[in-house]
Amino acid sequence: MRYISTRGEAPALGFEDVLLTGLASDGGLYVPESLPHFSLEEIRSWRGLSYSELAFNIMHPFVSDAIPEDDFRKMLDETYAGFAHKAVAPLVQLDTNEWVLELFRGPTLAFKDFALQLLGRLLDYVLEKRKQHVVIMGATSGDTGSAAIEGCRHCEHVDIFILHPHQRVSEVQRRQMTTVIGDNIHNIAVEGNFDDCQKMVKESFGDQSFLGGKTQLAAVNSINWARIMAQIVYYFQASLALGGPDRSMAFSVPTGNFGDIFAGYLAKKMGLPISQLVIATNRNDILHRFMSGNRYEQHQLEHTLSPSMDIMVSSNFERLLFDLHGRDGAAVKELLENAAKGPVSIEDYRWRHARKLFDSDAVDDKTTCETIREVFEQNEYLLDPHTAIGVKAARNCRRDPSVPMITLGTAHPAKFPDAIAESGLTVKPELPPHMADLFEREERYTVLDNDVTGVQSFIAEHWKNA
Ligand SMILES: *Cc1c(COP(=O)(O)O)cnc(C)c1O
Repeated sequence: MRYISTRGEAPALGFEDVLLTGLASDGGLYVPESLPHFSLEEIRSWRGLSYSELAFNIMHPFVSDAIPEDDFRKMLDETYAGFAHKAVAPLVQLDTNEWVLELFRGPTLAFKDFALQLLGRLLDYVLEKRKQHVVIMGATSGDTGSAAIEGCRHCEHVDIFILHPHQRVSEVQRRQMTTVIGDNIHNIAVEGNFDDCQKMVKESFGDQSFLGGKTQLAAVNSINWARIMAQIVYYFQASLALGGPDRSMAFSVPTGNFGDIFAGYLAKKMGLPISQLVIATNRNDILHRFMSGNRYEQHQLEHTLSPSMDIMVSSNFERLLFDLHGRDGAAVKELLENAAKGPVSIEDYRWRHARKLFDSDAVDDKTTCETIREVFEQNEYLLDPHTAIGVKAARNCRRDPSVPMITLGTAHPAKFPDAIAESGLTVKPELPPHMADLFEREERYTVLDNDVTGVQSFIAEHWKNA
């Protein structure tokens, strides 16, 4: 399988290089040159498979050039054995034909574990083969950092440095990062805000000379193709559990960078009957404004109760735009260059084509809290604020009540106790038993000044073979 850039100019790459590369050299994102397609008969034959077996069938075509079957099977078994539920991604019923797919049973209690637990193993495998080492550097305001650290904790060829704004992430989120102790795990608390952290990461990727040429930086953000790939699986799994592929499904997806929902779009293209995908956003609603009015325009960032969806632009949306433009990289390049300067639209027939599959809704904090409360009163079931946005959007946008509506449950409610308290409920979301001692665990992190040179020297001195 070869991968091509959405801007049409960068060279095509194989899986290994795509795994180790972030942005393509032309500024685009890598996508598979062609997708595997599964017949209904083949999908039907997967009923009853374990999550890891299903994951093998779906992902193997994407990696087969780089990883032998047995090694890949073993990797998947290990990845999904680390989840605290035998079904890995269990379904919970909310109402007649309405469901939540719980994607928060992994080590850091958010759906990002599905991809990052695998990504760490993939990276280590490929680096071992190539006798290479990488330094992962990232900035986090919460979920991604902890999932990336957990994903890399057993890697031999990866050091990971995660920057978070000192005293500006929630205690649960900080502890999920800082209590993972290992020689290759480095938490840096920067005396600044999230934007300061992000700027330092960007600058460091731009000029890696501080590493002295002995190792290189790698990114694990959501533009990494391998992350998207791993997220395709649970759409198939949920569908099979509810009678697919012999009936079609609708999914509602709490969306930030458009990674998770893009995986659903790919599942459909690979043969899974999906009749509707709902883009559920918070007040940072660029995607909702585009889907409802064909106008793509950046607004100021707003901080909400669902911080993992606080974005100004959705980086993976470029991958959908590429398909909507008949995979014409030059057209995508021009569109996005214009979008950086002001509002843009796409041709009406292309937009209408997208609207056949996608609906969208934007849910503000007040309605998020009302939804948490309403679902608790209806079902005695606690939603986290991201999932609540998904459920609300699903209820608002549903086209056909006879089609199962599945909202992706992206985080465990105990990660966001403030939103639960704001919803007026007196119940307190409890951490699951395997995390119950989180507040007693030893923490390790280093506080550094808001100064890129200092942070870079710290990295240069502390990676394993420095
Ligand atoms: C990352 C995240 C999202 C958004 O996912 P995208 O792939 O960026 O759209 C939603 N909910 C939670 C809890 C997340 O951590």
